[in-house]
Amino acid sequence: MLLGRAGDPTSGEPASGDPTSGDPLAAQLRAIVGPGHVLTHPDLRAGYEIDWTRRFAGRARLVVRPGSTAEVAQVVRACAAAAAPLVPQGGNTGLVGGGVPRDGEVLLSLRRLDELGQVDAAAMEVTAGAGVTLARLQARALQAGLAFGIDLAARDSATVGGMIATNAGGVHVLRHGSVRAQVVGIEAVLASGDVLSRMPGLAKDNAGYALPQLLAGSEGTLAVITGARLRLVRAPAHRAVALVALEAGPNDGRGAFRSPEARATASAVALTGRARSRLASLEAAELFFEDGLALVLRHRGGARPFRDEHPGYLLLECAADADPADGLAELLAGAPEVADAVLVSDPSGMRRLWDLREDHTDAIAAEGMAHKLDVSVPVARLAELVERLPGAVAGTGGRGDGAGRPTGRGSHPGRHRRDARDQARPGSHRPAEPGGAVRGERPLTLADPPATYPLEQVPPTPSGVPIGTMPAGLGAARPLSGNPADC
Ligand SMILES: Cc1cc2nc3c(=O)[nH]c(=O)nc-3n(C[C@H](O)[C@H](O)[C@H](O)COP(=O)(O)OP(=O)(O)OC[C@H]3O[C@@H](n4cnc5c(N)ncnc54)[C@H](O)[C@@H]3O)c2cc1C
Repeated sequence: MLLGRAGDPTSGEPASGDPTSGDPLAAQLRAIVGPGHVLTHPDLRAGYEIDWTRRFAGRARLVVRPGSTAEVAQVVRACAAAAAPLVPQGGNTGLVGGGVPRDGEVLLSLRRLDELGQVDAAAMEVTAGAGVTLARLQARALQAGLAFGIDLAARDSATVGGMIATNAGGVHVLRHGSVRAQVVGIEAVLASGDVLSRMPGLAKDNAGYALPQLLAGSEGTLAVITGARLRLVRAPAHRAVALVALEAGPNDGRGAFRSPEARATASAVALTGRARSRLASLEAAELFFEDGLALVLRHRGGARPFRDEHPGYLLLECAADADPADGLAELLAGAPEVADAVLVSDPSGMRRLWDLREDHTDAIAAEGMAHKLDVSVPVARLAELVERLPGAVAGTGGRGDGAGRPTGRGSHPGRHRRDARDQARPGSHRPAEPGGAVRGERPLTLADPPATYPLEQVPPTPSGVPIGTMPAGLGAARPLSGNPADC
C-alpha cells in the first residue's frame, strides 16, 4: 500500500513562480547534493509538507534530498551555519506531525539513503540505509529465510530511519519488542555535522553508551539517522490467525465496567494473558471494536466475519515451526471470553482477517481527518482506559502490550489540532491517566518537555532529555527538529 502522498517529485524545478529561488542556502545545498535534489518550488515541496493524516501541514523553506551520509553531514553543517532549523523526514507516515515542517524549516528527506546490504546469515543481521522501506527490508530478510521483528500497515512507505526515530512498535511488538530491540548498530549525523558510527553488530556490546537504543525514539532531536545494523529473527514456517468475537461479561472479576467495549476489553486482556502464558508461538494480539469494524466494512465493503455484532474483537496470531493452529484452537475452545471465533491458517484467509484490523486507518482517513495518539497503559488497566475514553472518540483500538491507538475522525483541522495539543499536554490528558504514557502531536526537542512521560509523574521542569548525561556531541547539540514547543 502506498500511503497517500500528494506527490514524490524526483528531479527538476519549474523555471518560474518560485519565491525562494534566490535563497543562498538553496544554492549552497545544490552544490552539495546536486541541483535536482533541492526542491524550492511550492509544487515540488507540496508532498513533503503535509502528513498522512492531512492534519499537519506547514511550509518548508526548501526540501533537500542527500544521497549519502557524507552529504547529510555537509547539509547539516550548512544549515547550522545558516541557523536554519531542519526537520528530518523518512516515509512521512508518522501520524503525529513530527516529520512535517511548521513554518520555513529545511525539510531533510532521507529517502535516497536506500542502500540495503546482503543478509549476514551467521549473525542474523542486515545493514540498511535510513531510507530503506520496511517492505523492502522484510523481503530481503525473507530471501534469507529470516524475518524482521517489526511489521506495520505502513510497511510500503515507512523507512528504517523513521521507524528507529519513532521507536515504532507494530503488530509483533508482543513477541519481538519495539524497534529499539531490533537495532544493534547505528550511523547518524549529529547537529555539529559529525558522523557517529557504531555498527559492529555485536550481540553484546559493552563499549560505552547504548547509542542505537538512545537514538531509538529520539524523533530527529538528537541526530539524523543515516543507517542501521538490524537484528533479524527466525521466520516460522507455520502461522495461524484467529478472530475472536468477545463476550462483554465482567471478566475482570469486579464487574466494574459499564460500557460493553470496556467489558469486552477486560475479556480480551484475560484471554490474551492466558495465550501469552500458554502459547510460546503467540506473535500478535490486536483488539478492535464494533464501530471500527462497521467503519471498515462501510469503507471498503466485504462480509461481516460473524453473523451477529459483538462489542469487541480480538485478533490473535501464532507462528511457529510446527503448525500452531491446534494449540490456538485448544486455547479458544470453551474459553469464557469467546462468544464466537474463526481460525484460519491459509495465507489469503489470514490476510482477510488482518485487513479487518489494518484497514482501520485508511477507513478513518477516508471519512474525515484522523486524530491519532499513541497511548500506553499497563495491560491490567486497558479496560479502564477504554471505559474512560471521552465519548467524542469515535473508534478505538488497543493491543496486547497495553499500547492503544485511540483514533477519531472529524473535519476541522484547527479544532483537531487544538484538541490533540490539549491531550498531549502534561496534566491535561485524561485517557492515559492509568499509569501510562502518551505520545501525541508534539515531537521531542532538547528544549522541550518530552511528549512521552508517566502521566502520574508529570516532569517538574521542561528538561525532557538529561542533557548532562549525554555523550559528547549529543548533549551539546541544539535541537535539530524545527518543530518547536508551542504546537
Ligand atoms: C496505516 C498506518 C499504520 C501504522 N501502524 C503503526 C504501528 O503499528 N506501530 C507504530 O509504531 N507506528 C505505526 N504507524 C506510524 C508510522 O508508520 C511509524 O511511526 C513509522 O515508524 C514512521 O516512519 P517514517 O519513515 O514514515 O517516518 P516519518 O513519518 O517520515 O517521520 C517520523 C518521525 O521521525 C523523524 N525521522 C524520520 N526519519 C528520520 C531519520 N532518518 N533520522 C532522524 N529522525 C527521523 C521525523 O522527523 C519524525 O519526527 C502507522 C502509520 C500508518 C499510516
